Amino acid sequence: MNSKTAFITGITGQDGAYLAQHLLSQGYRVVGLSRRSSHYGLTSHRLDWLGITKDVELVEGDLLDAGGLARLFRFYRPDEVYNLAAQSFVTTSWQQPALTTQITALGVVNVLGALVQEIPKARFYQASSSEMYGLVQEPVQSETTPFYPRSPYAAAKIFGHWITVNYRESYNLFACSGILFNHESPLRGLEFVTRKVTHAVAQIKLGLAKELKLGNIDALRDWGHARDYVKAMHMMLQAERADDYVIATGKTTSVRDMARIAFEYVGLDMNEFLKIDPDLYRPAEVDLLLGDPSKAQRELGWAPVISLEEMIHEMVDADLVRLRKNEAGSNPMPLSSLYTKV
Ligand code: NDP
Ligand code: GDP
Repeated sequence: MNSKTAFITGITGQDGAYLAQHLLSQGYRVVGLSRRSSHYGLTSHRLDWLGITKDVELVEGDLLDAGGLARLFRFYRPDEVYNLAAQSFVTTSWQQPALTTQITALGVVNVLGALVQEIPKARFYQASSSEMYGLVQEPVQSETTPFYPRSPYAAAKIFGHWITVNYRESYNLFACSGILFNHESPLRGLEFVTRKVTHAVAQIKLGLAKELKLGNIDALRDWGHARDYVKAMHMMLQAERADDYVIATGKTTSVRDMARIAFEYVGLDMNEFLKIDPDLYRPAEVDLLLGDPSKAQRELGWAPVISLEEMIHEMVDADLVRLRKNEAGSNPMPLSSLYTKV
């Protein structure tokens, strides 16, 4: 039995839920930061889906409240801190750039500052992103590829990445930055393209919708499964020394082909249902992401296990189950107008 305590910011998000499940299976005590919400009980829907809500300790706090973070670190004295909290949706980052910067960039300083002050021996993981590569400077992106952000979200993540490196070098912290390429699952937010697609495919299959509107379907992404990727986060913090790693599959697929996999899985012809909506194009696009995970494979022994096809099938199946049960999270409010050029 492991006697370690892990502290996860963003535990109510996709990765936080899977990471909590993984750490619990390793015997950790898992404490998670959860923002106060008037929707009491609803914010734990991902932990509920995994059946682990009662196994984790949720504590109230916010990345913007540095004093509160220090108080929590002083009380729980975690061995490992995983900073997964962020305003994580690229489109929203153009609509709320200052808020995105406060949470996704300055929030990292708040966590690191509290860590230096209260638990400097704790190991720290920062959730960096392949979006930092943006307008890619090399056809395959590795730890040495220069960054070129294409959104306020990416610019904020670059700050989070470098401040993590800087605190490692300034304060001798065990601080790692995981540069994770897109990773998805049945717990992915409905606004992200894979889940938007699998949810719409399930709706169309059940006769609840007639079409799916997408923006740029030529964009290429290196998609992996969140269940595989959270294991890499944990492995980074078990290594002999702190370092930064690209986590990716090494394969890239267009949004069009990803959608085709989902439609074909339920026996539907994508061309009958897919419509292109120019309003869903972004002010600046990231056309291609393709990661080189060889450093993580070599030094951590990490490799992805779940294929894109298996993942999309799992996501469609989960959306069919949720829609049939009419569960929370399966019938979103019509937010699409918020994600267009307003
Ligand atoms: P989600 O959007 O699913 O989860 C984000 C989490 O952050 C939620 O728990 C959210 O809480 C929390 N949060 C947001 N703002 C605050 C705040 N001010 N204080 C405290 N908590 C806050 O993201 P993912 O799980 O997909 O991603 C995890 C991390 O990895 C993020 O930092 C993301 O940017 C990064 N990343 C993700 C990739 C991916 O493909 N999924 C790729 C690369 C990086 P609430 O539930 O209250 O909204
Ligand atoms: P991102 O890589 O973090 O921005 O992840 P997303 O899942 O939000 O977007 C992946 C790619 O899908 C981007 O290139 C988007 O422009 C493209 N895309 C095309 N249509 C849509 C859509 O309707 N919604 C979203 N979220 N993305 C879309």
